[in-house]
Parts: sequence; C-alpha cells; structure tokens
Amino acid sequence: MTVICRGTSRNDRIISSEVKDNFDYFVEQFDDIRILKYKLPGFETLSLQQKEYIYYLSQASLMGRDILWDQNFRYNLLIRKTLEAIIGNYTGDKETTDYIAFLLYTKKVFFANGIHHHYSNDKFKPGFNAGFFAKLINGTKGEKLPLSKGQSSDQLTAFLTPILFDEKLFPRKVEQKSGVDMIAESASNFYEGVKQKEVEEFYAHKTIPDDPHPISIGLNSRVVKINGKVTEEVYKSGGKYGAAINKIIQWLEKAINAAETDKQKDELQILIEYYKTGDLKKWDEYNIAWVSNTAPMVDYINGFIEIYEDPMGMKATWEAIVDYTDLEATRRTKIITDNAQWFEDHSPIHPKYRKEKVKGVAARVINIAMLGGDCYPASPLGINLPNANWIRKEVGSKSVALANITKAYDVASRGNGFLEEFASDQAEVERIKKYGSISDALHTDLHECVGHASGKLANGTDPNALKNYASPLEEARADLFALYYIMDRKMTDLGLLPVEDAAKASYDAYLRNGLLTQIVRIKPGKDIEEAHMRNRSAISHWVYEKGKTGNVVELFKYNGKSYVKINDYHKLRSLLGELLGEIQRIKSEGDYEAGKRIIEDFGVKIDQNLHAEILTRYEKLNLAPYTGFVNPDLIPVYDSDGRMTDVVVEYVNNFLGQMLEYGKNYSFL
Ligand SMILES: [Zn+2]
Repeated sequence: MTVICRGTSRNDRIISSEVKDNFDYFVEQFDDIRILKYKLPGFETLSLQQKEYIYYLSQASLMGRDILWDQNFRYNLLIRKTLEAIIGNYTGDKETTDYIAFLLYTKKVFFANGIHHHYSNDKFKPGFNAGFFAKLINGTKGEKLPLSKGQSSDQLTAFLTPILFDEKLFPRKVEQKSGVDMIAESASNFYEGVKQKEVEEFYAHKTIPDDPHPISIGLNSRVVKINGKVTEEVYKSGGKYGAAINKIIQWLEKAINAAETDKQKDELQILIEYYKTGDLKKWDEYNIAWVSNTAPMVDYINGFIEIYEDPMGMKATWEAIVDYTDLEATRRTKIITDNAQWFEDHSPIHPKYRKEKVKGVAARVINIAMLGGDCYPASPLGINLPNANWIRKEVGSKSVALANITKAYDVASRGNGFLEEFASDQAEVERIKKYGSISDALHTDLHECVGHASGKLANGTDPNALKNYASPLEEARADLFALYYIMDRKMTDLGLLPVEDAAKASYDAYLRNGLLTQIVRIKPGKDIEEAHMRNRSAISHWVYEKGKTGNVVELFKYNGKSYVKINDYHKLRSLLGELLGEIQRIKSEGDYEAGKRIIEDFGVKIDQNLHAEILTRYEKLNLAPYTGFVNPDLIPVYDSDGRMTDVVVEYVNNFLGQMLEYGKNYSFL
C-alpha cells in the first residue's frame, strides 16, 4: 500500500486544526505512542442497507486479529493471552511501580500487535524483572492462564521468561541487513526451520519466466520443513489460520446479502472462494473485480496484502478496513471539478500552455468505519491498491484519502504546543485554529483535482525531459496552482471558503512549514531529498527571495528563535502566480536546466544553524512520534422479529479496555 500524494505530509498536518470541532479525539499517551479515536461523520445519514453492509464487513475486519499476532511472532498469541489473564485475574497489589511498569509493557505489546516495536522492529524491554513476572503468574489462577495440556504455571513462567527477558533471543521482528540469513535473524513467523537459501530455492522453481500475469507467489503461506522437505502451509479455510479465516468468511457471507450492487456481491463471492482455497489466481481475479468497482459508497479491504513484515518481501500480513465515501468532501471536489475549465482559463500561465478542454480528477475521499489487522491500531492516511503491478497497469488501481483519520491527527494536535512554538504571533495561531483544517483540505483538493490535471506540453516536448527533477517540479506545479487559487475570490463565491482569512491561514501554514518546520524530519547535516519536501522548500524560498525588496515575507529572530511573517498576502499571491507560470513553462518546454536551478537553488540545502535551532525547539515539545486509534463500537439494533433496524456508533475511550474486549470476542487461534 503506497501512501498517496495527499497522505505524505503527516508532519505538516500537525500545524492545522479547527476550533469548532468539539469531539474529543484524544484517548491517551504512553511511551512513544499517542492513542486517538476517530469520528464517523455522516454515518447516521447512511441508508440502513449501507449501515448493515458496514456492520458485517467490520465484523469481518475484526475476526482476523489473531492472524496478524501470530504472523508477527510465533509466541505472540501465547504471550498476549498470558498478559490478558494477568490483567483480568491477578490478585496481588496493582498499585506498585512494578505493576504499573507491567501495564505499560502490556500496552506497548497491544499497540504493536506483539512484543516487537511496530516501527523499529526491536523487541520491547520490560520495565520490570523476571522475578516480578513469575510473581504475576503465580498470583493468577492457573485455570485462567493459557496453559497447554499438563503444563503447570511454573512451566509457563519458565517457558516465557527467556522470550520476554533475554535480549539476545528474538531481538528483531524483521532483519533485512545484508550479509545475514534474514530468515534466521527475523522473529516474524513466515518461516520455520528453513534457511534463506532453502526458501529461495523453493520459490525459484515456482516462478514462470516472462509470465505477463504473474501471481503473487508465496503471498499467503508459511514455509516450514517437514521430514526434511520444504513445504508451504497455506493460509486458508482448513489450512493455516483456518479457524479465523472461517469466521471472516462467515461475516463476508452476511455482507453479500447487504451489498448494494451485484458487482459487489460477485466480488465478495470471489474473495470468499479465495479464502476457502488459498488459490492466488483467485486473489488476482478478486483484485480485478474489486478495482473495477470504482465508486462504491461503502468499500473495504480484507486480505493478506502488505509484504513489509517479511524479510524476503513475499509474504503478506493480514489487514482489513471498512470505509464509506465522505459526502462533504465529495461535494467540495465536485464543485472544484465542475469549475475546472474556469480555473484553467484564468491560470497565470502563458495561454499557449493552457488546456482547451480540461477535465478535473475527482479523488475519492473516504471515512474509516473500522480498522483491523495490520491497519490497527496504527492506521495509514492514504491507500493505493492493489499491489500487483500488472493489474495496476492493465485494470487500474484505487486511491483514497482517509479523511476522518487525517482530521483526527489534525485536531488532536491542537494544543500540543507545536503551533504555538513556531507561529509568529497570536493572530496567526487563532487563524490556523479557526481555518487550518478547512484550508488544508481545500489546498489538497485543488492540488489533486485540478492542479496536476492542468496545463499542457508544447508540441514535440519529451515528457521525460525533466528527469530526476520531474517529481518535485510536478508537485510544485500542483501546489502553486492550489496556493494561487486559494486566495482567489472564487473560493468564497463558490462557498469553498468562509472568508479570506481562511486563505491567509493557508499561506501562513505553507510558508512556515517550507521555510522552517518541515526540516524537523531531517537528520542534522543531511539535505532535503523527498520530492514533496523539495517542492515545499523550493516554493517557499523562491517567493521569500523574490519578495525580499518589498519585504513580502519576513524571516525574523526573537529571543534567539526564528519566525516567518507574511507582510503582504496579495503580493505573495502574485509571486506564487509568477512561479507557477515559470514552472509551467519549464514543464511545457522540457527546460531541464531551468527546472534544475529552481530545485537545487531553493529546494535542497538547509541552513545548518537554523536546522539545529528548529530541531532543539521541536525536541522540547516532547511529541509522541507514533499515533494509533481505538475503533468505535458499531452496535446493531434489532426489532422483535430479529431484523436489523439500525446500527449505532459508540465511541470508545479506553485503549486497554478495547484490547481486552477484542481478546475476548475476536480470538480464534
Ligand atoms: Zn501531488
């Protein structure tokens, strides 16, 4: 799943927020983790059939939870069940420092779906010792513990102690260092008893050379050695993880009855056949059906999809989401695409590079209704699937932005101190708090729906002429298009922005980010490499330099801290228009040298003193670098005949509580 264009600016999103949203997104913060909840806007306005469909699909999203835990590490389920038993049944003192350290460890394990950090892959170090762990198990009734047949509590303790406490044992979930046997060094559970070389040989025989439609070999199986022979355990009904997969199938079958179109029913039917057989040809067939269903009101992902956790890059972890179209955002993008020709005709570029007939691209913006498997609790911000290249090329792919997840990030970051630290004055803080979310969303829509689609090449221009500078220049072109128009009266005329101050908030945020804060993501001494970041730096520094004589944008220091202040928003807008005209010319004519100069002169280098200052200020804020979510509970309402009459959303405020509830209700392995 590649994170799509609009999802790449997670850190910039820290800066925008909106005051009038009173929903409390924050749940809790521990260690390097922040837990939020997300809101389901407009859920109550969906039809009963749509709600029912969402409900069944969301149950299917939760049924596979154990699969991911087991895939991450083969003792994760045993450990989780032990931790759950202790939390529920330990009779000792729960106020001690040791017990608090145990709870923290447990929460970290729950967040990571296992005992290795979800991002760094390192095994967690418990903040309590093995003696206390033994005490916890001894203080928990044996019948509550996940003991195997004939096993005593002491034997369970003896078995788990080295797994939890020996730092040399299973230290990394995924190890991809070159020169090591990646399979032997990785704790993830896609292989057992086999060496990397054996796996490579096993799959070498299965690849069909020059197959134009290759299946995703090895995607849904574990490789083991039985009686000296390397073999695959396929994830399917009746096979590996069959008990959980059967539950997924049950709920998908219910979903078929509530699906809105025959195409959706067909697609789900193929998915079920795939889960029953494990046949990877079926998986491709399913993906083709899924991607051909282009604009459903309710959609989902459910399967073995992403291969990041496999050191060999073949085997996929199980994941699921359920989503529905964001109608408000869709209304906004429709207004923009309906006016695409007006934007094109008034664009500050040379008329000969304007398109005579431009068609806007309507991006689908969705709201998440449930996260499951590898998408929970840490969620993506944008999704682009399927992964098979030949399907993407021949049939296409679906790209979506997760509006309610992004919004939760935005609003929860209000009050974390970031904006207050870097904004130049209180008026700017207020503007961002009031209009940051709306102007940020509008910027993204203009960028995606009309920015990239605008303009044309001169006859005979090589479309690949800009080479390595093509991507940052293309992102700059789309950003400039958005920035230029967001300050246009057309925005308030079309009802896309409430007042011009909202556009000012957009300029404040963009320049502050481009000139100062985006470099918090870069290590000292390094240059800016990523295309979107190069683009933002290039635009911001270019307008700063060009506007210097008129003091359009000011960089100043106060108490040793650097700030950005915009003195003339309308002059700034015309500079942005001027740069848009130039970058369009560069693209239209394929002027590599001019494009290179803009990116290299304004987009790549970082002032080392400024970098050090920004990093120090950022570190002092102590922001949790990772965010995850609790799901809402979706509760079906039935009438006396047992017919579903509604589905009600209940928001959950308790991370540990949800984890324990899921352990109780969705554990089948
Ligand atoms: Zn873009």
